[in-house]
Amino acid sequence: LPRYAEDALRILEGAGHEAWVVGGFVRDAIMRRPCADIDIASSAPWQEVQRLFEDAGWRTRETGCKHGTITVIREHDAIEVTTFRCDGAYLDARHPDEVTFVRSIEEDLARRDFTMNALAYHPERGLLDPYGGLGDIEAGTIRTVGEADKRFSEDALRMLRGCRFASELDFSIEPETFAAMVRNKGLLGRIAVERVRAELDRLLVGPAAGRVLVDACDAIAAVLPEVVAMKGFEQHTPYHIYDVLEHTARAIDGTAPRLRVRWATLLHDMGKPATFFRDENGRGHFYGHPAVSVAIGRGLLERMLFSSADRDRILALVRWHDDVVPPTPRSVKRLLRRLDGDVELFCDLCELKRGDARGQAPEFSAERIALADALEATLADVLASDEAFSLKQLAVGGSDVLAAGIPQGPAVGSVLEDALQAVIDGEVANDRDALLDFVHRWRDQAYSHK
Ligand code: ATP
Ligand code: MG
Repeated sequence: LPRYAEDALRILEGAGHEAWVVGGFVRDAIMRRPCADIDIASSAPWQEVQRLFEDAGWRTRETGCKHGTITVIREHDAIEVTTFRCDGAYLDARHPDEVTFVRSIEEDLARRDFTMNALAYHPERGLLDPYGGLGDIEAGTIRTVGEADKRFSEDALRMLRGCRFASELDFSIEPETFAAMVRNKGLLGRIAVERVRAELDRLLVGPAAGRVLVDACDAIAAVLPEVVAMKGFEQHTPYHIYDVLEHTARAIDGTAPRLRVRWATLLHDMGKPATFFRDENGRGHFYGHPAVSVAIGRGLLERMLFSSADRDRILALVRWHDDVVPPTPRSVKRLLRRLDGDVELFCDLCELKRGDARGQAPEFSAERIALADALEATLADVLASDEAFSLKQLAVGGSDVLAAGIPQGPAVGSVLEDALQAVIDGEVANDRDALLDFVHRWRDQAYSHK
């Protein structure tokens, strides 16, 4: 336990209150995982907590007084201190309509979502584990405290938290807990999209994201109905020995846990079921599936309230993941141009290509992984060589084009795009005189009939 947390316990206990470290910190400490935030549960009312800590020279912030929570801060370290409480009835499947403050830590632990989160620790009194959380952590099991149906109908977000923890911690969801998720998944529709999105983000970047997506598909489908068509959908090609959902899951687990790449990987093959057809040899084809994946993905990302910039970048990854790009400087510059010169996005695309390859039959994946690596190596060369791949780098700009007599309007963009293409293709050097000459020729050709 860090010093500041021990001091916080002492401040509360020095005034005659009972106090425990609870929740995620205890769980993560047992698992030897780093944990960002520390929570303390105590018998003191929040006003008393505020007074005690301010007297001791800490700062406090009223973060959730209605629920008995106050944040206490010393230098850069913050702790949330919450009064022992149990939650009243839940009418909206999300927020308790009232909270009741209770006398004992045991009653407080009973309101917590999962056994692994219903642990309390005190440096002198040790671990308090009334629901078998320690055993569940050792076994890697996510199990609700009390009856799962009741706990999920009280607060539907717990279902997504459970899936998210399964991915983050690489745990399995206990069968009865999972069966209750499937029975109650309809309640997820009442959860604010921002909360759903936050849990899905964390689920997707977790180390077991792919496995959880497959294992918990029947529950997750309530918030991502698009995955249903992928489940059990056989691809019937020698490269793809898994169904679309399993392929996607393997690809997700095979990519770096960068949020954008993980979302793109989730979406990258969504268009396959809709574009599937089988040739006379029984082999599967998916002509145009990236464009369909983009269309399905766009709807999904809009629903999940992505900003348009994030959405467009994720969709660019989906759109181009399947294009074969030879690792030559010219092809790399062309691809960079398509990605609006976004170097980071280019690297994300290589990452998606590698993950996609890892999801294929092993005899086909090595070559495609090597190709993605080679693309990144060529990218490094292109960047080091200072060659132009975006309009910003072009030695002429809009004012030069206007000065050459090309009228204000879409023609200005067109001539610059054509000039960039010519530079990338090595037809024109990226220097001012050569490009002005190109612009003049372009103008004469475009407006010769006038
Ligand atoms: P992390 O911080 O990694 O998300 P955590 O377990 O600390 O994990 P928090 O959201 O910080 O999660 O919540 C702290 C504790 O509060 C949890 O460990 C759990 O005991 C309890 N808790 C949080 N959300 C809920 C909920 N929706 N229902 C019941 N208990 C909850
Ligand atoms: Mg926490």
